[in-house]
Amino acid sequence: MKRIISYFNSLLLAELLKGMGLTMRYLFKPKYTMRYPAEHIPKSNRFRGLHALRRYANGEERCIACKLCEAVCPALAITIDSAPRESDGQRRTTRYDIDLFKCIYCGFCEESCPVDSIVETGIHEYHFEQRSESVMSKQKLLAIGDRFEQQIAADRAQDAAYR
Ligand code: SF4
Ligand code: SF4
Repeated sequence: MKRIISYFNSLLLAELLKGMGLTMRYLFKPKYTMRYPAEHIPKSNRFRGLHALRRYANGEERCIACKLCEAVCPALAITIDSAPRESDGQRRTTRYDIDLFKCIYCGFCEESCPVDSIVETGIHEYHFEQRSESVMSKQKLLAIGDRFEQQIAADRAQDAAYR
């Protein structure tokens, strides 16, 4: 019986008509396709993209070299060296590297940071042309923080009530 039904279905092009019906149904519905990169889907303020190191408004680095982020990172992607600063003896990082090829964008580093220094930004469009570029140095991370501070601060202010 099954074979007979299948025979008539193929003879009458039932599957084809079913497919055409589905196409017609979606033809006049709102489109899901975005014209990327001209159009972007809305992003959460908690989006975990490219990392950045932040400064206070007076230009002072927030990072106090406590190494909590390094300790908590499950991918061992963060490497920190630190030393007392010459001018005032405060401990500061002399090296802060994040290997983005190791990073799994879990967000543990930013959750663990007591001074909101290391954060993950909403930036997700970036690429590397050399293998070595995957290691984000302290200078690069600070530069990203400086450039996108306004957006980072706005995202974190929006999330403050839930932290
Ligand atoms: S996001 Fe996760 S994996 Fe990436 S550096 Fe931070 S703690 Fe490590
Ligand atoms: S980024 Fe934050 S958690 Fe990591 S060493 Fe600096 S102060 Fe500590």
